[in-house]
Amino acid sequence: MLLVKNTILIFVLAIFCSSLFGQRVVGKCSTVSTPEMDARLEANINYLEKNGAILTERATKYVPIRFTVVRPTSGTGGVSVKNIMKLLCKINKDYANQELQFFIKDDIKYLNNDKANTDPQGVGGNILKLQKDKDALNMFFVADIMSDSEGQILGFYSPNNDFVVIRNSEVNDVAQTTSHELGHFFSLRHTFYGWECQPWNEADFGKTVTITIAPCPPTVAVELVNGSNCATAADRVCDTPPDYNFGFGWPNDCRYFDTEVYDRNDELIHPDQSNYMSYFFGCGDYHFSQGQINLIKADLASAARDYLKSTFVPTATTLQETINYFSPIDSVEKLRSAPITLSWEAVPGATSYILEYSKNKSFGSAFTTTEIVNENQFTIPASTFTASTTVAFWRVSAFNPVSTCNAAVDYETFQVVTALNSNKIDSQVDWSIVPNNIKNGDEISIMINTSSTLDVNISVTSTTGQKVINPTSKKLSIGENRLVLEKMDLKPGIYIISISNIDGISSKKLIVQ
Ligand SMILES: [Zn+2]
Repeated sequence: MLLVKNTILIFVLAIFCSSLFGQRVVGKCSTVSTPEMDARLEANINYLEKNGAILTERATKYVPIRFTVVRPTSGTGGVSVKNIMKLLCKINKDYANQELQFFIKDDIKYLNNDKANTDPQGVGGNILKLQKDKDALNMFFVADIMSDSEGQILGFYSPNNDFVVIRNSEVNDVAQTTSHELGHFFSLRHTFYGWECQPWNEADFGKTVTITIAPCPPTVAVELVNGSNCATAADRVCDTPPDYNFGFGWPNDCRYFDTEVYDRNDELIHPDQSNYMSYFFGCGDYHFSQGQINLIKADLASAARDYLKSTFVPTATTLQETINYFSPIDSVEKLRSAPITLSWEAVPGATSYILEYSKNKSFGSAFTTTEIVNENQFTIPASTFTASTTVAFWRVSAFNPVSTCNAAVDYETFQVVTALNSNKIDSQVDWSIVPNNIKNGDEISIMINTSSTLDVNISVTSTTGQKVINPTSKKLSIGENRLVLEKMDLKPGIYIISISNIDGISSKKLIVQ
């Protein structure tokens, strides 16, 4: 019964269905070639004929990209920064073999506007235009892209406004939509150009396609398998075989296109299913052909793209994944009613961090707060955790404008308590190690603030608990106390400095490089 209902629903909505994955909306791109875009393609083809030498250049080009998250007028929702990081990681991998790297220019912008968020190709387009950064490739993330035509629009490049719009559902590290739209940005056409409005089907075009002009405007020749018209037909790229939009509606698992379709010379057509500029979905390993790569290179070199030329060079293109968490760690108690400062070791080359703190170690979005921070510490406001939370989890990943691929590999925990019990020393002293990252032989200071006179022991141990120096006893007076540890012979590694007394022990990490 359910099956029958589903079938009717699919019929009514005219949604295609994949037999492997059940009903799926057919995705497509709504980039429309304009005379301007055709002129750029023409110019790039001519440029390559005269300037073949640029194809051997190997220096990495850094392209500034300005991300704008479009949200409803209410200001709620919108794509998450974490997903934008995943997307940037993905497109940088997709374009890495072209010596092309995108980097985030300035901060991520936000725009709250219902029209821009749902109709960016209609009335919302003019609103987006006003938001453009004139020195960057502009990319907008929206909830929906309204259209009268069949299928769900996942993204588009607007040649007139010169910006890219991506549907929020495509902002992740899996979808090929963004790399496809960037292909259009760099003047590429679909491999099936001329068949966008009416994909091949046997009823209309037959098993052997005899028409010479593709069905969709503007007038363009139907591409032949033998390559005789490849320089003028379809995408004008000769190393992409003919494709009469066979991908549209084909199951989203990229299964082999085994429908036999012949061109008018009776030659069997083998479309390049895993080409970024095709409409085949779920291929996993997509690629641009060398001819397409050459055009992208020419486009970037053209005067039309002068505004993207940048002197930016990242401090690092990859960042260490593991984070040395300083505090609070190892289930230490923290007062619910007080601000809680989370700190970790700075990662070389990182400019920012994604910090997540959560009520649940799954870090599910319903329990988790995500912050982008530019320092290696962050203070959670007092009373963030309600009485129902007794254990909190936190984790960090580092990124910089070009390297956004890191995901947090581990996490730390602390207890959230109403009153400090088991370890009273935490309420008696507030202390830090300065600096907490040294070279062997450097001197360090232990700064201890206390509101009462106290007798404490200070010890330094390895992470396996071995004593490194003998415990020192110290009488603390009210206020700031400074204890200097000098001439310690420490091999590179992590050490634990602890302050203890009869009421407990408080520990912090020292890094020796
Ligand atoms: Zn497209």
